[in-house]
Amino acid sequence: MTAPLVPNAHEVRSTCCYCGVGCGVVIETDGAQITGVRGDPDHPANFGQLCSKGAALHLTARAELRPSRAQFPELRRDRNIARERVSWDTALDVLADRFARIIRVHGPDAVAFYISGQLLTEDYYVFNKLVKGLIGTNNLDTNSRLCMSSAVAGYKQTLGADAPPCSYEDIDHAELVLIAGSNAAYAHPILYRRLEAARRRNPSMKTIVIDPRRTATARDADLHLPILPGTDVALFNAMLHVLCWEDMLDDSFIAQHTEGFGALKAAVREYSPGNVAHTCGVSEAEIVQAARWFGQARTALSLYCQGLNQSTSGTAKNAALINLHLATGQIGKPGAGPFSLTGQPNAMGGREVGGMANLLSAHRDLSNAEHRAEVAGLWGVDDVPAQPGKTAVEMFEAVRTGSIKAIWIACTNPAQSMPDQRSIHAALEVAELVVVQEAYRHTETAHYADVLLPATSWGEKDGTVTNSERRISRVRKAIDGPGEARADWEIACAFARRLETRLRPGKPSLFPYTDAASVWLEHRASTAGRDLDISGLTYPLLDSIGPQQWPMPEGATTGTARLYEDQRFATPNSKARFVATAYKPVADKIDARLPLQLNTGRLRDQWHAMSRTGTVGRLFNHAPEPTIGLHPRDLAQRGVRAGELVKVSSRRGSIYLTAVADEDVRSGQAFLPMHWGARFLGGNAVHGVNTLTISSFDPDSKQPELKHSAVRIDKAELPWRLVAFGWPGAGTSSTTAEGGSACTTDASPAAIEIVDALGPLLPRFAFGSLSLIGHEQEGVLLRLASATPASPELIAEIDRSFALDGSQVVRYDDSRKWVSRRIVVHEGKLRAVRLSGELMASAAEPWLRDWLTRGEPVEAIRRLLLAPNATPPQGFVARGKTVCTCWNVAASTIDATLAALQGPPGSRLSALQARLNCGTNCGSCLPELRRMIEARTDASSGTRTAESAA
Ligand code: SF4
Repeated sequence: MTAPLVPNAHEVRSTCCYCGVGCGVVIETDGAQITGVRGDPDHPANFGQLCSKGAALHLTARAELRPSRAQFPELRRDRNIARERVSWDTALDVLADRFARIIRVHGPDAVAFYISGQLLTEDYYVFNKLVKGLIGTNNLDTNSRLCMSSAVAGYKQTLGADAPPCSYEDIDHAELVLIAGSNAAYAHPILYRRLEAARRRNPSMKTIVIDPRRTATARDADLHLPILPGTDVALFNAMLHVLCWEDMLDDSFIAQHTEGFGALKAAVREYSPGNVAHTCGVSEAEIVQAARWFGQARTALSLYCQGLNQSTSGTAKNAALINLHLATGQIGKPGAGPFSLTGQPNAMGGREVGGMANLLSAHRDLSNAEHRAEVAGLWGVDDVPAQPGKTAVEMFEAVRTGSIKAIWIACTNPAQSMPDQRSIHAALEVAELVVVQEAYRHTETAHYADVLLPATSWGEKDGTVTNSERRISRVRKAIDGPGEARADWEIACAFARRLETRLRPGKPSLFPYTDAASVWLEHRASTAGRDLDISGLTYPLLDSIGPQQWPMPEGATTGTARLYEDQRFATPNSKARFVATAYKPVADKIDARLPLQLNTGRLRDQWHAMSRTGTVGRLFNHAPEPTIGLHPRDLAQRGVRAGELVKVSSRRGSIYLTAVADEDVRSGQAFLPMHWGARFLGGNAVHGVNTLTISSFDPDSKQPELKHSAVRIDKAELPWRLVAFGWPGAGTSSTTAEGGSACTTDASPAAIEIVDALGPLLPRFAFGSLSLIGHEQEGVLLRLASATPASPELIAEIDRSFALDGSQVVRYDDSRKWVSRRIVVHEGKLRAVRLSGELMASAAEPWLRDWLTRGEPVEAIRRLLLAPNATPPQGFVARGKTVCTCWNVAASTIDATLAALQGPPGSRLSALQARLNCGTNCGSCLPELRRMIEARTDASSGTRTAESAA
């Protein structure tokens, strides 16, 4: 039974705004502020659970973070001056005039819209109609291009429609779960909790993980295939080879419900495990084992994500995996099927409304004249253009080369997230007009906005989203947005109404919507008779019976859990199609100059470009700073020690990063978290991690190969270092994003404000990084490195940002080695520290930072503060990273507790949870706790072995 929509006057049900699991949340509010969040116990995606990101959602909506929100429209009348605040009328009139002029002079293809899988379906619908219906171009693409377009192309090629056929409940029925290119433990944590629970209930369930890295997900698997990057097609073809050779096919399914198997069978003949093992970098036996488990399972489910999608062979990888399911009849039944996991909360909704450059509303085909006529009829326009628009990479390239004059970017941060950042920044630099519709004013992209339009965000807007399992959930407003921020669909509508008076004067408006529901009803009408028909669904029904999976046609009382149960696929003859996929290597070749394969991926507690998660200190504590992981052998080969700075270079640019030893990364590879943009990771000519990545894309899906770049790594020669950290202090200076007027306040600014004030300094150094520190209290950590010392003026500017410039500051200077130290103590505790000079000048940083974040009294270390070596006090134990974010439990505490625990791993985990609480709330740290227990078991059995040998 569904609980009431409003359990009490201060709670509102909505949906998490991060990943595609689409968890239901209950927002607690006092009417003006969001005061808390918890998992919705009745939402079928999560049944009350939330991961570490979802559980911290309310912290991203704190009143103190308001200054980092875009609150008023801003307009830059000249590129050389800062934006000024204007009224909505002024901003929208200026935009309508300028867009109308560009369209008249250069044609509709001279404008483009780059939007987001984080928009709600209603937002997406209005943008799509505005661009394709009113303006008459298909230049509308979205960041889902970077995320899901290969899955779309793979489904369409094989099953005939962009429709993930499975449900989360299939995990409960699967005998085998194959996870390919997905670290679900980090990227889709609540779904992963479901898999953990299913494995506990059914110990005979097997899991296979295919991933170049030994991720948290891979560590838990029964079989991990650490294939070399980009070799998935070769592996899947080899598995099919085994299935054919060992007679594990479902011949009757193939004969009755598919076509094209003959060509595929001939194609995979040469992909014997023996032939392919070397290509894939795994053993023949492992390939055979994976194939046998797949072929022998009564029910086999595949979960896959960016490892398949973000590739120049992304569509082929998807198709090759779906081939396995079709060949064994593992589809259309409980516990079986190919199940793509969406990265974003509403990538699915965007696809449903046709919100991409090559899609049309309700899964219609742009190339189909009848389909275009249907959509034109529905919208009340003469036609919609047939020519596909520019996809993400093509779009920014067209901006750079000038054929697209104006670009409107909504709810996404391409100046961080697109590959080959130099070309993206070059495009935004030369664009005639850049419009940024955004909730946060300090994103890397907002910096380029000629017009900044403030948008409402999570907790402030109304509409729907669709999660990975086709489930449509309501998103509900709990509070008003800040300042004059408006809902995204409202902004698009207000602009569209002004534009239509210029492009089609005198005609009735195409945008008569009064609320999100009225937009959604038009979308619903567009789906009637289509594979995603939701004509049986209404907002009130979603409110009364809860989230539903499409299709749900008129007359249906509930949504559809599973597709293709009748074995009729969405192709003209209802047969699924095998695709004879061929392995092609990655685009960016390694060679003697660039010998390492760079893989990018997710951290556990950050999400995408960190616009939102980057405002919460505790979400940094699991991975506090940007680092690059290499196998210890590769570090040693380069004469680099863990923790040292290295220079990472690709064919597109170089960045400096701290190297960490990571045995989970294969030798010859490197791993770099995708989240760090120029706001947090800077340096001269550096635009975050995507300075390194390549924009080559899959020919069908146009999805770029973000998962692989050839790089080299050299020890950094940057002898001058600075590290500063501390809590914001009253009177701390902060500057505007444009580097304009400085202001000094009596109240302490939020830590993120200091980050944004310091950001413009980063490009003045070879390396610079910024992060938040702390748990309840939030502070800032700044790290800089360069070949020569910074000027005293620049250092003084940094000191002011940390309020290290007053009379209370403890100082130490040794000009011979550029060494300088500044420390502020407040109420007997460290409040801020700055260490600079030669490399060793910052040696005391780790323990001083620990001292500060723990809030230890300074008395015990007072005499060490200015000692030349500044070694930690006797008995000091470094806290280590925070493993459990919910309960703020550090690695050192867990280690110390584990040292005293005996018994099997399961009982030690329970004891650990009982003593420290870790892993008892969101569960995101459970894989790491298991790993720590395992490591301690290995270490103690190693000790025992050594003792026996002695
Ligand atoms: Fe949000 Fe976490 Fe659920 Fe994803 S798994 S929707 S990030 S709570």
